[in-house]
Amino acid sequence: MCIFCEIIKGNIPSKKVYEDDNVLAILDISQITKGHTLVLPKKHFDNFLDLDDEYASHVFLAAKKITKMIDKAYKPLGFNIINNCNEIAGQSVMHYHLHIIPRYEKDELVMNHNDNSNKFDLDEIALKIRG
Ligand code: AMP
Ligand code: ZN
Repeated sequence: MCIFCEIIKGNIPSKKVYEDDNVLAILDISQITKGHTLVLPKKHFDNFLDLDDEYASHVFLAAKKITKMIDKAYKPLGFNIINNCNEIAGQSVMHYHLHIIPRYEKDELVMNHNDNSNKFDLDEIALKIRG
């Protein structure tokens, strides 16, 4: 069984910050910043591509509440709300989860984005994705 399913079942300890019938939110053990929280659907889905509509809605509604709870508790300057989908994108636990990462300073979390706008034809890409 996956590690987050074990946590949800209570077989592995965690620091719970929120729970309802469908969602459990726990402190991420790595604490990228103070209050870094993971929102887990209680049902196992491997990743964002697998997540069903019902749980997508449960997770996002819970994430809104929890973000406000962290905001009230620590008054950060902002948040990153992140999902890593598959290993190439940094997913290390294959049980869908959202990261809520409060932000206090600029360099706590570095995400480098290249500007590749000169390399791609946006009309062609939009057509391809729309199918
Ligand atoms: P990701 O890399 O997006 O799949 O995120 C997985 C996250 O789970 C990482 O940030 C880990 O620090 C966190 N993590 C792994 N094991 C545990 C655990 N037992 N309790 C809390 N967080 C965990
Ligand atoms: Zn699981």
